[in-house]
Amino acid sequence: MKHLSKTKIVATIGPASSSKKVLTQMIESGLDIARFNFSHAKYDLSAKWIGIIRAIAKKKKREVKILQDLQGPRIRLGADLPEKGLPLKKGAKIKIGFGKFKRGFLPIDYKGLVDDIKIGTLIMLSDGTVELEVIKKEKNSALAKVLVGGKVFSRKGVNIPNANLKISPITEKDKADIKWGLKNEVDYIALSFVKDEKDMKELRKLTGGKVKLIAKIERPQALKNLKKILKFSDGVMVARGDLGIELHLEKIPNAQRKIIDVAHKTKKLVIVATQMMESMLNNPQPTRAEVSDIDTAVIEKADAVMLSEETAIGKYPVEAVRVMEKICKEAEKE
Ligand code: PGA
Repeated sequence: MKHLSKTKIVATIGPASSSKKVLTQMIESGLDIARFNFSHAKYDLSAKWIGIIRAIAKKKKREVKILQDLQGPRIRLGADLPEKGLPLKKGAKIKIGFGKFKRGFLPIDYKGLVDDIKIGTLIMLSDGTVELEVIKKEKNSALAKVLVGGKVFSRKGVNIPNANLKISPITEKDKADIKWGLKNEVDYIALSFVKDEKDMKELRKLTGGKVKLIAKIERPQALKNLKKILKFSDGVMVARGDLGIELHLEKIPNAQRKIIDVAHKTKKLVIVATQMMESMLNNPQPTRAEVSDIDTAVIEKADAVMLSEETAIGKYPVEAVRVMEKICKEAEKE
């Protein structure tokens, strides 16, 4: 077996990688951890592909671990917005709250929203490209002003960076998914939108110490509570997708360095994730900037780097692993 990089490669399994041939090539090219994203994953298909990955790994004498990534308390827009999307114009005012879509009212699927927000709270939609500010609170809704306009779509994520959200950290769906994960003997369970150590304590209780736990750091609150969160986790993920919505983009590199540093000091694992080779969704080669980004994560001594859509829905899943492996090995020479 050829010598592989010390930095582990995590790759998300999805339609693009759901084939024996592709998985075999990904494993041969350096895949160490297969990630199943439970915002989308289905039980029967995931169980099937976990079995196949384990069989290929055994045949190839490689150790490939399974990471189950729980959706966590992700807040979304309601499901009944116009199919073509709802345009929100800068300066317009719109009511928001739990309920059904109607003209002038934007539904959000979290009942406690109005209690958890204040006048001045910022609400980010459409991956942070649309921004609202709460200007008035009413009994069951709030009035918000559109600060940055754009189109919003049904079921898309809602980020409320600075609110102290009372939403339960582990949803009923997560609990069912955890049971499934334990039954299928996954090696790691990652929890999204962790706020503090209590979330990880609860996850630990539910998993009974049978599996390694990863806290996804994607909220400003989690950054503040990082040391305490790490006490109850086996590792952390620098989840730069949502972190980039909840913080300003230019704050991501420093946040990444801080998370890696605290993880090292507490001897915990750290995974750097999201948009590492986004351009490889459609191109067989990454950009120079992406190469530098992976190199930086290796030089900062991340334990693992992660591929998301690149291997889940991209056109070049095998090439993405192959190129990532090469970049890691080269960086490790330093
Ligand atoms: P996701 O998490 O892939 O579940 O969105 C990673 C991130 O937000 O970076």
